[in-house]
Amino acid sequence: TKASIGLVGLGVMGRNLVLNIERNGFSVAVYNKTQSKMHAFLQGEAAGKRITGSDSYTSLVEQLERPRRILLMVTAGAAVDGVIEEIKPHLEPGDILIDGGNSFFLDTERRSVALTAEGFHFVGMGVSGGEEGALWGPSIMPGGSRESWEALRPILEKIAAKAEEDGAPCVAYMGPRGAGHYVKTVHNGIEYADMQLIAEIYDLLSRGAGLSAAELADVFAAWNQGELRSYLIEITAAILRRVDEWTGQPLVDVILDEAQQKGTGKWTSQNAFDIGAPIPTINAAVESRILSGLKSERVAASRVLHGPTGHYTGNRSELIEAARAALYAGKVLAYAQGMSLLRTASQEYQYNFDLAEIARIWRAGCIIRASLLGNITNAYRRNPGLTNLLLDDAFREAVETRQGALRRVVQTAIELGIPALALSSALAYYDAYRSERLPANLTQAQRDFFGAHTYRRVDREGIFHTEWGSA
Ligand code: NDP
Repeated sequence: TKASIGLVGLGVMGRNLVLNIERNGFSVAVYNKTQSKMHAFLQGEAAGKRITGSDSYTSLVEQLERPRRILLMVTAGAAVDGVIEEIKPHLEPGDILIDGGNSFFLDTERRSVALTAEGFHFVGMGVSGGEEGALWGPSIMPGGSRESWEALRPILEKIAAKAEEDGAPCVAYMGPRGAGHYVKTVHNGIEYADMQLIAEIYDLLSRGAGLSAAELADVFAAWNQGELRSYLIEITAAILRRVDEWTGQPLVDVILDEAQQKGTGKWTSQNAFDIGAPIPTINAAVESRILSGLKSERVAASRVLHGPTGHYTGNRSELIEAARAALYAGKVLAYAQGMSLLRTASQEYQYNFDLAEIARIWRAGCIIRASLLGNITNAYRRNPGLTNLLLDDAFREAVETRQGALRRVVQTAIELGIPALALSSALAYYDAYRSERLPANLTQAQRDFFGAHTYRRVDREGIFHTEWGSA
């Protein structure tokens, strides 16, 4: 009998996905370029399971039932094109190639158009949840033809994470061509923002208010019992509790403060600029990682650039409570930006996104999983045409009632000289979005002054230009 699905690329993600697929009742044929790794896998974790190896793409393809389903879990970029070129001569029309890596969505668009023209199905599939998620249930964001979705659905619904609320699998058809990889990119952008908001709250409470790592672990653990309940808050509490085995200090205190990135957050920002969607808090998170990378410059500057370095002298428990509410408001504002980016992209690329479905499949399995996502799902179910999450009654009220805390927290950070790019940008987004009138009138006047770029008026139709004279 033939195998249900094939997999190319037995890296961290590939190996775990294969084990997950097999555990759920499907047989898998696998191939890895470095054959020794495949043999180690077959003799190790895969031993005794319905997982078979292949020494070539010919042998992989021969082992598969038709139409063939072949999942690529290889390094994003040139490797994906390389594998596609090598495997293509062995395929027949109707076969389905799936790219489950973190590919750039415009690469997926290009591959999708080319492969579809040759009669194949190409599925760009975002997978989130890291190593553990791949093994026990990731959140899965597939894009491509509906036909290929139906062919993959039985497997994907089995292996995906199941939401606590209703047991539904965290996978859904995202849309055509690059839609799945686009959604995964925005997921990662929101993840950057969420992580940065948490980092700023941690900075304020530790550097500003003098809470120890152990005290902060308790604070985050308590927050994880309430409306902030999420994977990122949970791991933050666990991280803050971990003691370094060499120094006996909290491990977090001996970790170098230079954040790295693989680029998906940056892609989110770059694309948002391209399609004209404001996502200041995601941008702030990307910028914050870049700033953190200037470690030696910062060390030198810290000796010559002066500013407040005061410690918070007010009531600590009041600040902690304000921080909790501010973090929740900040998160809502970051999600509002991410969701409205998806809405803009949906029109720009004709992805026809279902925002309720996207929030629904982020409820479990992925890095940004949070109880908040259940509420976001409900908001878009109530009103699929919602222009902005902030206009949903429940979220409007959630931010309105917490904006005081957010303002207080941002103010405190400013007074203490603690940078809060993400928190302050979230607040500025709120204030800008709710402003009937912004100072862009002055910007337009300046553009018309120096470049005759013209402007429109509030009181009459038409395009106007003023002879401003010289300054
Ligand atoms: P690994 O580095 O662990 O594995 C990469 C795999 O790609 C290896 O099997 C490697 O084969 C194969 N490969 C690389 N280049 C080629 C090539 N030219 N031809 C054939 N095979 C090749 O990566 P991960 O498993 O971590 O990631 C795979 C993809 O999944 C990436 O796109 C990543 O961004 C994405 N991803 C990763 C997550 C994570 O948490 N790690 C989470 C979600 C997505 P060989 O053994 O021969 O080198």
